[in-house]
Amino acid sequence: MKQVGVHLLQSNATFDIEYTYLVEDTLVESGEIVRGSFVNVPFGRRKQLQTAVVWTLGKESDKNIKLKEISGVSKVRPPLTDAEMQLAEKMSNLYFCPISSCVKCLVPPDAPKGKQVNYVRLCISHDMVDELSVNGQLKNIVHIRILENLKEGRRRVSDLAKEIGCTTGVFNTLAKKEYVSIEKDFVVEKEYETELSYSKQLNIYSKHTLNDEQQKAYDYLWSLIEKREFAECLLHGVTGSGKTELYMQLISQTVAEGGSALLLVPEISLTPQMTAHFMNRFGNNVAVLHSRLSDSERNMHWNKIKNGEVSIAIGARSAVFAPFENLRLIILDEEHEASYRSEDSAPRYHAAEIAETIAKIKGATVIYGSATPRVETYYRAIDKEIHYLSLKNRANKAPLPAVEIIDLKEEREAGGVDRSGIFSRKLKAELVSNYKNGKQTMLFVHRRGYAKQMLCEKCGSTMKCGRCNMPMTYHEKGDRLICHHCGRTTPAPKVCPACGSSDFERRGIGTQRVAEEIEKIFPGAKVVRMDTDTTSVKDGHEKLLTQFASGEAQFLVGTQMIAKGHDFPNVTLVGIIAADSLINMPDYRAQERAFQLFTQMAGRAGRGDTPGKVIIQAYSVDDYAITAASNHDYNEFYKNEIVIREALYYPPFSSICFIRFMGENDRGTYGIANAVCGKMIKLKEDSIEILGPARADIPKVNNKYRWIVTLKGCNREFLTSFLRKVSQEVDILKTTGKVAISVSFHGR
Ligand code: ADP
Ligand code: ZN
Ligand code: ZN
Repeated sequence: MKQVGVHLLQSNATFDIEYTYLVEDTLVESGEIVRGSFVNVPFGRRKQLQTAVVWTLGKESDKNIKLKEISGVSKVRPPLTDAEMQLAEKMSNLYFCPISSCVKCLVPPDAPKGKQVNYVRLCISHDMVDELSVNGQLKNIVHIRILENLKEGRRRVSDLAKEIGCTTGVFNTLAKKEYVSIEKDFVVEKEYETELSYSKQLNIYSKHTLNDEQQKAYDYLWSLIEKREFAECLLHGVTGSGKTELYMQLISQTVAEGGSALLLVPEISLTPQMTAHFMNRFGNNVAVLHSRLSDSERNMHWNKIKNGEVSIAIGARSAVFAPFENLRLIILDEEHEASYRSEDSAPRYHAAEIAETIAKIKGATVIYGSATPRVETYYRAIDKEIHYLSLKNRANKAPLPAVEIIDLKEEREAGGVDRSGIFSRKLKAELVSNYKNGKQTMLFVHRRGYAKQMLCEKCGSTMKCGRCNMPMTYHEKGDRLICHHCGRTTPAPKVCPACGSSDFERRGIGTQRVAEEIEKIFPGAKVVRMDTDTTSVKDGHEKLLTQFASGEAQFLVGTQMIAKGHDFPNVTLVGIIAADSLINMPDYRAQERAFQLFTQMAGRAGRGDTPGKVIIQAYSVDDYAITAASNHDYNEFYKNEIVIREALYYPPFSSICFIRFMGENDRGTYGIANAVCGKMIKLKEDSIEILGPARADIPKVNNKYRWIVTLKGCNREFLTSFLRKVSQEVDILKTTGKVAISVSFHGR
């Protein structure tokens, strides 16, 4: 008997405990059990079988403890590779979470249970097909049609037989000649088929010849990829600079040289049209991974990657774990997108950090693409920690739109804002003329949501926390303002602390009101409203976008979700109704988010032949997030922002850890948060700041109260080792059943 150390997949402890089990010598000697194997083990007093993964072979342990024996090896799950085990270990350190939760990110989605059918795929090259029919070796027209059809990818035998009008026996004939192969597989459901059919309808996605700027970037990036060493590069390109074409050509070259490539995009841009473009360019060499897929589809794509059937994958956040053997290139498009951060369950990772970690293990290149990179990423580029490239011009030569800022203070004083309190004179005039010209308009409204602030109608001031420089949030209960960062509270003032005006109000204009106003002003017009209410129905997002793209609607009113990468050439006017509401979000990244959003919104205007116009309405017209966006000037934004980050000790100058407590009983939840907080204060070193417990931004979700403790320290390593020290005294992450605790990090 040999001893092995395993990690249970179901574990709710902070610390990974490696449990020791016995295993027959022969299982190890025959290689049936290796490091990374999934096994079943009896666990607990009732000896229930649990899935575990073997971490150490030949473990030393206390001879006096009676050990149980492993009861079997998993037949369905392939063992983790060395690289995957390294990744899980690094993640466990990076995110202060059990190895088991990291392993869960790496295992394939559940195998489908549905019925299997026959699929047929081409086994010879496209050129070979042409040659066979030209030189007369293939005479049967049905055979030729089948092979021609299969050039576009694998098909279901029954479908193709129906389409061609032949018997399924014909496929066996072709299989005997080894022109095609027939394989049994689970039924692929609609989504992937939809994408395939899209890709057939499209004309071949026209490959652009790279312009000079793109070519220079290409050469530089290829020189990195070619080395097969770890490298990171920020690709900072204005909206419309043609980053997608660049990605495609880099991917193409990577694959041509035998490597694999992974393109990550925000979930919201991963539309069927977008993936269809890729399938169109790369044929059936592409796997797609996103949340609209069913389990069986996900499993199919995952297996294609694992078996080396494809060398390219496109996907959203979790696709970063795609099991490529030979990965040489990872691209994060729109790297600033918040959806790259996983918030729902441990490990609460950022896809960029995972990409970096994987690339280090595999010797691959990571490209972070964005018009508005995260401050943290840009800081690393300035610091020469990572490579930097910029694309300064739009690929189709369309000029960036002119941006005008409307001062709502002045406008109000002059009696200019209309009855609804929404549109300035200028914006209204532009709306009218744009509508008359048959053009389309996009209006951005920041949802009032939960974060109600007090804003002076006269001078635009908000109340900020003196300690955190963060806008305080209004809470009806007790009529108080609360800082969601440090927990400081103060009674809501009756007059503006800055100017003494009594027009100090809780504010917020929603998408619905703006849409209704537009309908009043333009009785015959069609308005599409996009926010979480209207897009939560299945395919809601797609349908609304199609309505707008087809020109059926003249106005699109929405929240941040309308800012993302859509190419509507007929949009020539973009309006941002109340810029202040974004700037005043209680988050240290509020300015960054606002700048990114204004820039992305501005990037929607004038992508076609007619130049675009952008109007930003705001009180804080001197705010650098607004002025920098209006000048299309990232540097202006960055210069201002980085000073504040440094002064207030936010990332990239520090690392922050958020420990969230959630429970049904408010006082009980607070009690645990407070106890943990107290423990940490006792053990704390001088260089760590502990804030809270404070109520979370959303104080109550699904009847669970939420409290938050914030730690700040010089870097991540420092914080996680502090947490490890703390958890030797209290198991801070152990969910007690009543209160759930979670940990997430910002900053390196
Ligand atoms: P980005 O992702 O950088 O915002 P896109 O990739 O969407 O920009 O490209 C913007 C537009 O420019 C697209 O319509 C694309 O087809 C086009 N484009 C890209 N590269 C070229 C090129 N070399 N020449 C002409 N047009 C190009
Ligand atoms: Zn005021
Ligand atoms: Zn504060």
